Amino acid sequence: MSAGAEPYSAALSAAAGHAADWLGSLPGRHVGPGVTAHDLAKDFGGPLPDGGMPAADVVDYLAAKAEPGLMAMPSGRFFGWVIGGTLPAALAADWLVSAWDQNSGMRYATPAIAAIEEAAGNWLLQLLGLPEEADVGFTTGATMANFTGMAAARWRLMTDAGWDLDREGLSGAPRIRCFAGQERHETIDLGLRYLGLGRPTAVAADDRGRLIPAELDRLLSEDTGPALVFLQAGNLHSGAFDPFADAIRVARRHGAWVHIDGAFGLWAAAVPEFASLTEGMEAADSWGTDAHKTLNVPYDCGISIVRDSVALRSAMGLTTSYLVPDAEGPGDPFQKVPELSRRGRGVPVWAALRSLGREGVAAQVRGLAEAASLIAERLDQVEGIEVLNPVDYTQVSLAFGDDATTRAVTARVIEDGKVWMSGSRWKGRDVLRVSVSNWSTDTDDVGTAVDAVSSAFAAVRSQSG
Ligand SMILES: *Cc1c(COP(=O)(O)O)cnc(C)c1O
Repeated sequence: MSAGAEPYSAALSAAAGHAADWLGSLPGRHVGPGVTAHDLAKDFGGPLPDGGMPAADVVDYLAAKAEPGLMAMPSGRFFGWVIGGTLPAALAADWLVSAWDQNSGMRYATPAIAAIEEAAGNWLLQLLGLPEEADVGFTTGATMANFTGMAAARWRLMTDAGWDLDREGLSGAPRIRCFAGQERHETIDLGLRYLGLGRPTAVAADDRGRLIPAELDRLLSEDTGPALVFLQAGNLHSGAFDPFADAIRVARRHGAWVHIDGAFGLWAAAVPEFASLTEGMEAADSWGTDAHKTLNVPYDCGISIVRDSVALRSAMGLTTSYLVPDAEGPGDPFQKVPELSRRGRGVPVWAALRSLGREGVAAQVRGLAEAASLIAERLDQVEGIEVLNPVDYTQVSLAFGDDATTRAVTARVIEDGKVWMSGSRWKGRDVLRVSVSNWSTDTDDVGTAVDAVSSAFAAVRSQSG
């Protein structure tokens, strides 16, 4: 080893060992954490010690003390929220990103990261069937990817309305009317709040949670002026996709900007058999997705895709005396995302895509949906269990009679720890939600999930009966 690597080597070897131990524990461990953050406060808290600690000891300490408070989110038996695991190539690439320590805002300064991220961005556009001229930016997550699309939309809509947003700000500006399906993700409201655009008008949804285009048309017709419409690829409870072709046609008729929140659903476009789900989505103006969900790269990685690069770069870019702007290339990364300094978070995306290939991505996404279907099919056969949604993507919502029973089953499943699933509320009912988003979930895990839910239900029933 060279002298330059010497100060790092013991700590990195320790980290590699602990990482392998952690990954090795995933197939067998209780999925939920064994302690609370409060329990761990004594191990990590207290006054900052005056003296330091050798790097490898710091790593050993962290690994040992954190272990009981970790949740097996990267396990194939984790079905909570929509979380996603981590592909081996993506995890290892993420380590390299940290070691490289490239401040990835400028093409001129970090050409390797720029080239890797630009390639990953182009692959994504091809894979998802989105316009090749669109700008791709790597954000912390889908919240910020959606926010980025909204910021571009705000700039374009204000500019077209004759308002100089950069100079005047929002005071006295024309109002932008925002519309989103009743079952949108809450982070749409959050992005609008960051941008000072207010709460969106809720558009009624159908029994699967899909926005109803005729309702959108009715609401848009109530007034005139700049409008921003949010559609969703992948409903959290049903996995359903808004009817893009019809909804976008309506939005266009009213001159609205259309943004699609496809945090985990945009990836359906990579699967030829799922073409009907995402049909027409390429006609939108901007899209937000996560790489840390369905693609399975480590946190934090969202992806913002915006067709109107002038609007995007006007909203996100900046010029200073000390930044060296990209002369003739596709533009600097910092012009496409909220951050200036950031890690090369697109590198694990490149690694994930390269390790899978086009067919591998399709197989991964298809596999998640197949596992969800299988779980739904098998649980549907258990008397007393209701599958509340047709399963054509990765999400299953289950009910067990009354709300109290559903809550008791959810608590039992989590306590048993063989799998982990979220409790939620949908369509006025408590539900147990199964979300399949890990590449490693296999038929054994599906069997474990089915057994865990059925036996929790049986146990709750025998207690109450
Ligand atoms: C997860 C999710 C978000 C938010 O994404 P983050 O990566 O947590 O910021 C937004 N919309 C939908 C549909 C999601 O599933």
